[in-house]
Amino acid sequence: MRTQRQVVDFSLRRRALLREVQSGRVGTYEVCDASPYLKSAAKFHGEPTDELCPVCRRENLTHVHYIYGDELRQSSGQARRLAELPVLAMTLSEFHVYVVEVCRDCGWNHLVEQYLLGRDGLAAGPDDGEQPSRLRGGAAE
Ligand SMILES: [Zn+2]
Repeated sequence: MRTQRQVVDFSLRRRALLREVQSGRVGTYEVCDASPYLKSAAKFHGEPTDELCPVCRRENLTHVHYIYGDELRQSSGQARRLAELPVLAMTLSEFHVYVVEVCRDCGWNHLVEQYLLGRDGLAAGPDDGEQPSRLRGGAAE
């Protein structure tokens, strides 16, 4: 997305946690604790991925995008479809996006990344040519 900025990637933390789970130091019941709200957000607003759940390996992960910001008023904290974000980014000057991956089977969930979207990003210099295509989750064929 054009106005995406201040991206924070949580993949290192995720990998460390998964190592703990695989070694048995952390129980799956501790990490597979998606709330009914998160599961229904995944069902109705989630973005399917082609990445298999790292815990149960039965279901592909779903990405849920939560948006936060003063300008959103009562919509702050809601899950939105990925397709709605560029529209909001052109309407609002700034809001936070938190991407959470969820397994709708076992309930595994983890923060994937967070970033800022909004018109304010358009004023920023064109010098950082960062490719925000990582959201797609890997190389396209
Ligand atoms: Zn799972």
